[in-house]
Amino acid sequence: MTTKSDQFVVGLTGGIGSGKSSAAAHFARLGAFIVDADALSHSLTQANGPAIPAIADAFACVVTNGVLDRAALRQRVFEQPSERAKLETILHPMIRAETKAALVSAEAINAPYVIHMVPLLFESKGYADRIDCAVLVDVDEATQVERVTRIRGVPLTTVKQIIASQMSRADKLLLAQFVIDNSGAESMLEQQVSNLHRVFTANATLAKMQVTEVQ
Ligand code: ADP
Repeated sequence: MTTKSDQFVVGLTGGIGSGKSSAAAHFARLGAFIVDADALSHSLTQANGPAIPAIADAFACVVTNGVLDRAALRQRVFEQPSERAKLETILHPMIRAETKAALVSAEAINAPYVIHMVPLLFESKGYADRIDCAVLVDVDEATQVERVTRIRGVPLTTVKQIIASQMSRADKLLLAQFVIDNSGAESMLEQQVSNLHRVFTANATLAKMQVTEVQ
């Protein structure tokens, strides 16, 4: 997927409950075009969705009448890396195609830049070729756990398991070009998003000028 020459793409990532969706909502209000990898994956696997036939063929007993048992599939891929790889082989090319189509839409409506929201951005192969820079939404683990358990009602053991399966906070901090500190109030998150919006708009404009000059 080529993105760098036409659209300025910002990868937005962070652990579970770090505040990616909240940050993306603020970016969207400012005019950024949002491409949400999780939402694409969800729509591909909705009842009778485009990925359902391949998943039904590859995984016994997780699809009934075109409806995916998400909890059963999640459990299987969580416990067995080979099953996870099998699912990724099905979903990743489809997500890439949908992302490409979304980037064409962003270009068509002349969006200033794209926020590509990918929870496991740094864990995914070749991610650096698909983005111009990465923003990490960062919170400490205690805050992450508190928000996901209290506000979203996810059981503590599940949250801890998910955090343990993701890249460490320290490693993510090393890979991100920009960090949003979401340990404070939502108004502080909003302020940091506004600041970054100005940076990305300016960089996207510069990048487009350079492309025009080269052509
Ligand atoms: P993610 O998309 O990274 O999983 P969310 O944006 O859904 O995280 O945030 C997790 C929960 O924490 C949500 O219920 C959200 O409303 C809440 N939240 C996000 N940022 C803050 C904040 N700065 N203060 C308090 N609650 C927050």
